[in-house]
Amino acid sequence: MIVMKFGGTSVGGAEQIAQVAEIVTRFRQGNLRLSSAEDHTSRITDHVPVIVVSAMSGVTDLLISAARSAGQRDGETFRQAAGELRRRHRAVVETLVDSAGRQASLLWEIDALVGDFENLCQAIFVLGELTARGLDAVASFGERLSARLVAAALRERGVPAQAVEATNLIVTDDNYGAASPLMEATRERTRAVLLPLLDEGTTPVVTGYIGATAEGTTTTLGRGGSDYSAAILGSCLDSPEIWIWTDVDGVLTADPRVVPEARTLPEISYGEAAELSYFGARVLHPKTILPAVERGIPLRILNTFKPDHPGTRVVAEEQPNTCAVKGITSIKGLSLVTVEGRGMIGVPGIAARLFAAVAGEGISVLMISQSSSEQNICFVIRQETTAQALAALEAAFELERARRNVDRIWAQEDVAIIAVVGAGLKETPGVGARVFGALGTRGINVISIAQGSSKYNLSLVVGEEDADDAVRAIHQDLWLGEIQG
Ligand code: ADP
Ligand code: ASP
Ligand code: MG
Repeated sequence: MIVMKFGGTSVGGAEQIAQVAEIVTRFRQGNLRLSSAEDHTSRITDHVPVIVVSAMSGVTDLLISAARSAGQRDGETFRQAAGELRRRHRAVVETLVDSAGRQASLLWEIDALVGDFENLCQAIFVLGELTARGLDAVASFGERLSARLVAAALRERGVPAQAVEATNLIVTDDNYGAASPLMEATRERTRAVLLPLLDEGTTPVVTGYIGATAEGTTTTLGRGGSDYSAAILGSCLDSPEIWIWTDVDGVLTADPRVVPEARTLPEISYGEAAELSYFGARVLHPKTILPAVERGIPLRILNTFKPDHPGTRVVAEEQPNTCAVKGITSIKGLSLVTVEGRGMIGVPGIAARLFAAVAGEGISVLMISQSSSEQNICFVIRQETTAQALAALEAAFELERARRNVDRIWAQEDVAIIAVVGAGLKETPGVGARVFGALGTRGINVISIAQGSSKYNLSLVVGEEDADDAVRAIHQDLWLGEIQG
């Protein structure tokens, strides 16, 4: 069996959903030839798919903005969103489902779900308050709608298929908006629900992105979390591989929207993929790697619109290429916070207190750098958490500020992290020089460099307006568009 996930663009409309149904049908018939060059699919002994789907592209954004506006006593936006949801999902049903009877029953289901969405938003509107728990409930509707469409499209082609709510499979903690699975309970439920369906030859179409607490309250795994859903289910079902179908040929040397000549990487390691996704390569949700690594399950990233392309395999083994760098990513919308003062020199525990203060606010730090003279410590956080972080630091260092041991606590907004990723980066001399050379010759100022970063990653901070140019410059000067392997 193979767990395979289709992303938002892959289920973005009737035509795309028909393409998904075509891929699944071909797979079931054993007619999908992904790797004519090398038979990596030899581990796959049967052709039993378990499908995981994202919401139609743009739908989760629409749901979230509807919920937010309802929480701000706007009674109009969520009604418009409901209209839009009905239109988009109805159009797919009308195109893909032939019989009037089957159409009617599916349209009824869609209307009922959209009606539930409206009622929930109405309640949020009346309360005038949106909780994290309420937001997850609203955000879950996109996948609940799309799973029904994909299952119906498969049935139209004669494939027995059934939409399955992941709230009955994935048991999570109650960290709404970024819930974590409780793997033991999830494994038990997933197998209890899905294995009987598979035994009778039915293809399950599971809602990505969502789960539920042990008490049954809906949660979400974080934006882009359907990849993670697929990895969780793949691990629970002992899938020999996990396939992520998306709208590009695989993991590329850079985001193709920024670097048009970016090249598909045939194979990368778990560590490299984790680093690329953590530092902004949206093609894979950062947590996806975790369940795969634990059970040694290879991932494959594939293009829904070029189903015969072999894509990228993500595996345990590391194969450094000739220039040691596999890819370049960037994350924008960040702030660089600096705590500086001569009185910090040689004082033990400053860094510990600093990061405890930031962590106490629930703010995660993406990158840290400290000057060797210890006169300052810099770290990078998401821009929207800047004011909160500064306030927490001012409070934590009140005494030092009064004594002038800490002179200044300040933030530079609108910065980006550029991450240069590859196994073997640390062992290959001269990579840093080439990276900084690429930026220097183009007049791009480097604001900060990460000290002691992971062995896969060299990260640096530039102004946000320079981020795309910086990625292009490094990509070009390191010949990433041309190097094989
Ligand atoms: P899906 O809806 O299928 O989950 P996403 O939009 O989440 O798709 O992720 C795919 C997108 O990720 C691509 O269209 C591409 O623009 C972007 N991306 C960013 N960095 C990379 C990269 N290094 N390789 C491939 N795609 C990337
Ligand atoms: N639909 C969700 C999102 O847009 C999850 C996903 O697409 O992976 O974030
Ligand atoms: Mg995605």
